Amino acid sequence: MVSYKELGLVNTREMFAKAIKGGYAIPAFNFNNMEQLQAIIKAAAETKSPVILQVSKGARNYANQTLLRYMAQGAVEYAKELGWEHPQIVLHLDHGDSFELCKSCVDFGFSSVMIDASSLPYEENIALTKKVVEYAHQFDVTVEAELGVLAGVEDEVSSAVSHYTKPEEVVDFATRSGCDSLAISIGTSHGAYKFTPEQCTRDPKTGKLVPPPLAFDVLDAVMEQLPGFPIVLHGSSSVPQEYVDMINSLGGKLPDAIGIPEEQLRKAAKSAVCKINIDSDSRLAFTAAVRKVLTEKPGEFDPRKYCGLARDFMEDLYKHKIIDVLGSNGKAE
Ligand SMILES: [Zn+2]
Repeated sequence: MVSYKELGLVNTREMFAKAIKGGYAIPAFNFNNMEQLQAIIKAAAETKSPVILQVSKGARNYANQTLLRYMAQGAVEYAKELGWEHPQIVLHLDHGDSFELCKSCVDFGFSSVMIDASSLPYEENIALTKKVVEYAHQFDVTVEAELGVLAGVEDEVSSAVSHYTKPEEVVDFATRSGCDSLAISIGTSHGAYKFTPEQCTRDPKTGKLVPPPLAFDVLDAVMEQLPGFPIVLHGSSSVPQEYVDMINSLGGKLPDAIGIPEEQLRKAAKSAVCKINIDSDSRLAFTAAVRKVLTEKPGEFDPRKYCGLARDFMEDLYKHKIIDVLGSNGKAE
C-alpha cells in the first residue's frame, strides 16, 4: 500500500471546489510516455495551473503501471525543480472498468480514480460506483463516476452512439453512489473523429466540417439539479486543424478529423464543469512533429530530435489549453 500523499500528490476535492467557484476548469491530460509527461509538467509549472495526470487502462498496459506511478512521483519533484513551490498534481485512473482495477490504483498511489460503469444498467452503475467510493474514501482518494454514454473510441472504451445524461437521474445517482464528481454526456465524444460528416454541416469557404453544438441545455438542467457539484467532460479535444493539415500534408491520412470547438469548451469551463479531458489533441501534436522532422530530414535517426520537437509541440498545446481555454493558469501558486 502506497499513499498518494507520500508521493506529493493531491486528490481532486479542494481543486474542484475552487474551480467551480472561480469559473474555470482543471485540465486532465492523458500520458503514456516521458515526453508527454515532461510537456504537461512544464506547461503546468510555468502557468502555475493545477493539473490532472490521467492514466487509462491502455496506458497501464502500454507503459507498465509501476513505471507510470514512479513517473508521477518524479513529476512532482520535477515540478518543484522548475520553481513550482506547491505543485497541485493529481494522478487519476481514466475509465476504470472494475472494482479490482480501481482498488489496485488506490493501493498503488493514485489520488483519484474513475469508475466507468456507464454501460451497465442504472442500478448496477450505482452499486459498482458505491463499492469503489466506499473503498477509495477510506484513503481519501476521490472518485469520478459516469452517467450517460459518450460516442467514440478511447482505448478500450467505445460506443457507436451517445445517450445524453438524463438530468432527472443525477441527484439520485450522486446521492446513492457517493461519487465526488460526475462525467456527463452532452455531445462530446472520444477520439479524433468525434462526429460523422452526416452530423455536421460544411463551411462553404474552407470545405471543413462544422460540428453540432454541445447540449448546453442538458448541462444547465444537470447543474440545476445538483448545484455546485463537480461535473466532468470527457472527449473534449478540439482536434486542431493546423495539426491535422500538417499530418495530411506530410503523408498522413486523417480525413475529416474533427473535434469540439474551443469556444464551447471555454463556455463549459466557466460553469460547474471543473475537469475537461484532453487526449487526442496531444496525440495529433506529437504525430505532426514526428512527421515534420522525418519528412524534412529523412536522414534523421536520433529519436531525441523528433520526440524533442513533439515535446515542444505538446507543451505549446497544453499551455494554450490552460491559458486560452480552461482559464486554470495562476490557480495553484
Ligand atoms: Zn473518456
